[in-house]
Amino acid sequence: MTSVVYPGSFNPITNGHRDIVERALRLFDKVIVAVGTSADKDPETYLAERIGLCRLALSEFGKRVEVEGFNTLLVDYARAKDTRFVVRGLRTISDFDYEHQMIAMNQTLDPDIEYVLLPTSRQWSALSSSRVREIAGLGGDISAFVHPAVAAHYQRTNG
Ligand code: ADP
Repeated sequence: MTSVVYPGSFNPITNGHRDIVERALRLFDKVIVAVGTSADKDPETYLAERIGLCRLALSEFGKRVEVEGFNTLLVDYARAKDTRFVVRGLRTISDFDYEHQMIAMNQTLDPDIEYVLLPTSRQWSALSSSRVREIAGLGGDISAFVHPAVAAHYQRTNG
């Protein structure tokens, strides 16, 4: 069985992230969604909350998707999960710049890990978690961008 780690902040998980999980499942038997904390992306938001929303939003994929938190080096985490593969999503050329830098650094740390960059479907290519948070924070409707469970969560916490 081949598995892949999909790391990110998922703050919150969007339909773009779900699209990447679905595509990754065409290539791998199992996707391990690793929810981390990125210093420049609102680390205040509770990790447990982001993990819980990922689980709800990805429940349709059943046992082929596992969600957990991680706070170690990505390469160490992948090793601990017994895989050599990491998947990331690509929206624009600026995503590529960012991923390229991350991959180059990680390849120095561990040259045996392979990175798979999957372009998202065009429908989600302009979608980001930070915009979703902004819209939700202003009381806007985010149901076009996220799973209904995520939209309901933001409605509850804003209301
Ligand atoms: P990070 O803080 O690690 O960038 P994110 O949760 O913002 O975490 O993103 C995790 C991964 O998902 C990244 O590879 C990012 O490019 C990708 N991603 C984010 N939004 C989308 C989207 N709308 N479509 C496809 N991939 C996306």
